[in-house]
Amino acid sequence: MTTSLVNLDGRAGLRRGDRVVDVQTASDGQLPSDPMAVVRRWNDFRTWATGLSDDATAEAVDEARLGPPVPLPQKVFGVGLNYTDHAEEAGLELPKEPLIFTKFPSCLVGPRADVVLTSDRVDYEVELVVVIGEGGRDIAEADALSRIAGYCVGQDISDRRMQFAGKPPQFSMGKSVDTFGPIGPGIVPIDEVAHPNDLAISCDVSGETRQDARTSLMVFSVPELVRWLSRYCTLAPGDLIFTGTPAGVGSVRDPRRYLAPDDVITSTIEGVGTIVNRCVAGAG
Ligand code: ZN
Repeated sequence: MTTSLVNLDGRAGLRRGDRVVDVQTASDGQLPSDPMAVVRRWNDFRTWATGLSDDATAEAVDEARLGPPVPLPQKVFGVGLNYTDHAEEAGLELPKEPLIFTKFPSCLVGPRADVVLTSDRVDYEVELVVVIGEGGRDIAEADALSRIAGYCVGQDISDRRMQFAGKPPQFSMGKSVDTFGPIGPGIVPIDEVAHPNDLAISCDVSGETRQDARTSLMVFSVPELVRWLSRYCTLAPGDLIFTGTPAGVGSVRDPRRYLAPDDVITSTIEGVGTIVNRCVAGAG
């Protein structure tokens, strides 16, 4: 049964299957209630979770109550054009170095949160999101997975109108509007992910499959991204890497297909989980 760390009403929860226990309560106060503080003590959390017997008092998970499993990371990296099929559909050359932008942490919301549309050109991008564990500087590729806490599913929601309003385009603001970073449902520990560099990844919009690929199509793999980023930035516990999206985004379809109010975005990664986000009209 998959284990994950969830954010239930702002408190860290240990989830197994469809049940959850409060981490601070079930650990008799040995571990904190703040999900960020639990991520900073990832190895202690893992040791405790492994030793915990299946608790009969655990409650059923109500996914509507789940917040972002990492609510306030120090850094959120995004990676542009990181799937070969997506670069191809966009008609752009494969990058020789990772194309990094930021999503400001205030855009993060939970796995069932609504996405508030800011224009008629808001787009979906399903992405594997890496949650840094121990982190550090100058991490070798061979050590990268051991410095990661785990994975979650994310949506790098993008307002293409903002992104491409000027020349050159600007990525960060159009991808950082409040609610433009749904993540979850929880952090699945990296050692519980069977093939961490080759996972099925897909996105449906209102029941229609729009993206369907594998993470092995990444131009820069997760270990390569961790190595590259940590050459320049100290990776801190809880930092997130949105690792790029595969082919099928709305802005490069013919005809273009953007998100509309009442659309439901369902994003799934094999062994990591599913997040479901409804679109609602915003002020625009
Ligand atoms: Zn993206």
